[in-house]
Amino acid sequence: MDLIALGSAQMGAVEPKERLRQLAAHSNSIEVDASIPIKRYYRSGMEMVRMAQVYMQEGNSPSAYILYLKFITLFVEKIPKHPEYKLAPADLKQQNKTKLLEVMPVAEQLKVKLLEKYTREYNQFLEAKRIEKEREEKRQLEQQKQKAKAAARVVPPEPSAPPMTSSMLVDSDMLDRVLYPNDFPTDLNRSTGTGLLLPDTKPFPKPSFDRTLKPSPTSVVAGNLRSVIVPTNTMAKFLQLAARNTASNVETCGILAGRLAHNQLLISHVIVPKQKGTSDSCTTMNEEDIFNYQDQKDLITLGWIHTHPSQTAFLSSVDLHTHCSYQMMLEEAIAIVCSPKYQETGFFCLTPTYGLDYISQCRLTGFHPHPKDPPLFMEALHIVLEDKASVEVVDLR
Ligand SMILES: [Zn+2]
Ligand SMILES: [Zn+2]
Repeated sequence: MDLIALGSAQMGAVEPKERLRQLAAHSNSIEVDASIPIKRYYRSGMEMVRMAQVYMQEGNSPSAYILYLKFITLFVEKIPKHPEYKLAPADLKQQNKTKLLEVMPVAEQLKVKLLEKYTREYNQFLEAKRIEKEREEKRQLEQQKQKAKAAARVVPPEPSAPPMTSSMLVDSDMLDRVLYPNDFPTDLNRSTGTGLLLPDTKPFPKPSFDRTLKPSPTSVVAGNLRSVIVPTNTMAKFLQLAARNTASNVETCGILAGRLAHNQLLISHVIVPKQKGTSDSCTTMNEEDIFNYQDQKDLITLGWIHTHPSQTAFLSSVDLHTHCSYQMMLEEAIAIVCSPKYQETGFFCLTPTYGLDYISQCRLTGFHPHPKDPPLFMEALHIVLEDKASVEVVDLR
């Protein structure tokens, strides 16, 4: 997702339509999981659009385009395959349809704009390449002239290495018709075919610019997580609110919500919904309340936080499943676990491919064993604790 990190100068070497295709490929990354309630997808869709709008305001068109496409792909192609699709509330479907109709022309406009931009950059790249080629030709011509001069002074020439004469020099018109080895497919037979090369079978020196200015399309970096900024006082404020539960050995949980700004995700709110806690579990109730609050404040779901009143900070098997649905909706989603008894705080996420895949496919419920090696979860490396930021705790209980 970290496309803005790519320099235009480098990406300019990629053919414009291919560049657009690479962006579109990101939009396919969301999958519909039957075990996640369909309402969550509709929620997540609203948040995608919210984030896309931020990217638009910030002038980050590629990221906005990816998110809009992701939204369209999810709700046009993928969501109808969800087993709850036919039963989904009509108002949610209607709201979603309205958004789709709003988003589609925006995505189309973005596509046109991006294609124009990429074409401009590609033409600049071609122009730079042309200038470089001309320069190289001049240099070689000069070199050959020098050699010819030197050879004319030496007599007699060796029969195996005939002297360079001006008649053998290549004129620049002919060079334009040359296909350099790099322009061929990596098929050896074809690259040695002389039909397209100069009639002279003497190997022509390969110009140096091709290699340096032509990065492979795989240079597009994907999957870089955006930072999640956690206000340092988040844990203390949440623990304060949880204190009574903690004293009775009951878990407390809350939703981490916030916003996107400059490609960073900032936690600004902990929303504590109505819930049912035990010593080792916590279940949220009335999720609608959370959504309503988030809608009012334009907040994106960034993960969740919960206490372990009598255990250390780790993710239990149930926690892993809870977290999975967060991380499937947003790859940066984090789980904060506060253990006041052991004075520990854990910032966790599922290991990006293995843990996420494993848990999303595990159909067991309640506490159950999972294999421990390789690890299913890890310390979230993309969090940044921020002293200057402050969190607001909203108690909906
Ligand atoms: Zn837990
Ligand atoms: Zn499991």
